[in-house]
Amino acid sequence: MATGWGSLLQDEQQLEELARQAVDRALAEGVLLRTAREPSSSNVVSYAPFTLFPSLVPTALLEQAYAVQMDFNLLVDAVSQDAAFLEQTLSSTIKRDDYTARLFDIHKQVLKEGVAQTVFLGLNRSDYMFQHNTDGSPALKQIEINTISASFGGLASRTPAVHRHVLNVLSKTKEAAKILSNNPSKGLALGIAKAWELYGSANALVLLIAQEKERNIFDQRAIENELLAKNIHVIRRRFEDVSEKGSLDQDRRLLMDGQEVAVVYFRDGYMPNQYSQQNWEARLLLERSCAVKCPDIATQLAGTKKVQQELSRVGVLEMLLPGQPETVARLRATFAGLYSLDMGAEGDQAIAEALAAPSRFVLKPQREGGGNNLYGEEMVQALQQLKDSEERASYILMEKIEPEPFGNCLLRPGSPAQVVQCISELGIFGVYVRQGKTLVMNKHVGHLLRTKAIEHADGGVAAGVAVLDNPYPV
Ligand code: ADP
Ligand code: MG
Repeated sequence: MATGWGSLLQDEQQLEELARQAVDRALAEGVLLRTAREPSSSNVVSYAPFTLFPSLVPTALLEQAYAVQMDFNLLVDAVSQDAAFLEQTLSSTIKRDDYTARLFDIHKQVLKEGVAQTVFLGLNRSDYMFQHNTDGSPALKQIEINTISASFGGLASRTPAVHRHVLNVLSKTKEAAKILSNNPSKGLALGIAKAWELYGSANALVLLIAQEKERNIFDQRAIENELLAKNIHVIRRRFEDVSEKGSLDQDRRLLMDGQEVAVVYFRDGYMPNQYSQQNWEARLLLERSCAVKCPDIATQLAGTKKVQQELSRVGVLEMLLPGQPETVARLRATFAGLYSLDMGAEGDQAIAEALAAPSRFVLKPQREGGGNNLYGEEMVQALQQLKDSEERASYILMEKIEPEPFGNCLLRPGSPAQVVQCISELGIFGVYVRQGKTLVMNKHVGHLLRTKAIEHADGGVAAGVAVLDNPYPV
C-alpha cells in the first residue's frame, strides 16, 4: 500500500486551502461532535476530526471484511447462547476482575430467574488492521469485536461527501466517484426497528441509555432520526433515570416514566467508571425486563477480550458453529495470535515469549473504550509484576499487528493541519435479530475507517487519538 496522495501532501499552501474547504464541508454535512468544554450541550459544536484525504485500502481486504461479517454475527450470537462456554471461559478472569465479575453476576441472576424475552438484537462492529506480511502483501487481522455501544455509524455516513468534495476541488472527479457510499446508521436502525416490531406493541418506545456528558450525540441522533422516520419513538435516559423512574410490571414489562419500552439500546455501560452501585441496580432491572436489550448481558460478555482469546483456541469455533467448516475457515483467517495468561504452563510460555520480544505483543485487560492496553516497556513492567499472581488471568496477550504506514493529513479543531505517517483500522458494522431459534435478520450494514498517527499505540476517535476516514479502494 503506497501512500497514494504523495505529491499533494507536499504542497503546504494547497493543503491549507483544501483543509479550509474540507472543514466547512464537514460542518455542513453534520460531521459533528460536542466540544470537550461543553459535552452536555449542543450550544457549541465543532467538527469531528478527520483525514483530509481518504486512505488507500486494498479492495480484496475490504471485501473479505464484509464477507466475514455475517459469520461474526453468527459467532457472537452462538457465544451469547452458550452459558457453559461463557462460564468456563470467564471463570479465571472473574476471580480477579471485579468489573467482568459484576457483569457476570447479572448474567447469572438473569439465567436463574429465566430470560424474559425471546427476541435478541445484536448491533456490533468488528475492527481490523492490515498486517504487512514479510512478502509485502497485506492481510486482514481482527483487532476486536465491539458488541456494546459500537459507535460512529452515524458520522461515518457523512464523511464520504467530504472526501468527494476534496477530490472534486482537485478536479479528481474519477477518484471522487470511487469513494464508497456508506450508511451504517440506517442499517443499525433497521435492526432496532425489527426488534421493536417483533416486540409487538405499537405504542412502546425505544429507550436509549445515554451518558450525561456525550460529545458524540450527533452519531446517536442519526440512528434516532432513522427510527423516527419509521414512526418509532426514542427516549434518551441515563441509568440514574432508570433507577428513579423505571419499573417492571408483573409480566416484567419495562416501564419508563409510565411508558412501555420495547427495546433498550445501550450507549453507556461498557466501562467500569460508568457504574455506580445505583447504576448496577438499574442495569439489572433492564436485563430482567422483557424489553429487547441491545446488547443483552450475555452478548456484552461475548465481546470481552477473554472470550476473543478463547475463540482462537483449536476446536472452539468448530464446537460453537458445528457443521459449518466454511464459516469457521473465514473467521479463523482473520484471527491474529491470541494467548491466555491463566496460571499454568501455557500462560508461563506466553509471558516468556512476550518478555523476550516485547515489540511483537500487546497486553490487554478486560476493558473497552481505548487507552487500556499496554505495549513495549510498560507491558514488560506489567508482566513482570503480574507473572506470579493470579491477577494475570484478567489479561490476555495478543500478537501486535504491524500495518505499513502511509502519509495523510489529519484535521482537528484548534490544531493546524498535520501531515504525518499513519495507520488505519477498518470496522464493519453487523446487525442480527434472533427470535427464539430463528435468525430473522443477519446483515452487514456499512463500514468505518479510522486513522491515526503511528506514534499512538492505542485509542480511537472518542479517545482523541484516531480521526474519521474513508477507504479509497485500490
Ligand atoms: P478497546 O476495546 O479499548 O477499543 P482494542 O482492542 O480495540 O480495545 O484496542 C485499542 C486500540 O489499540 C486499537 O484501536 C488499536 O489501535 C490498538 N491495538 C489493539 N490491539 C492491537 C494489536 N493486536 N496490534 C496492534 N494494535 C492494536
Ligand atoms: Mg477497539
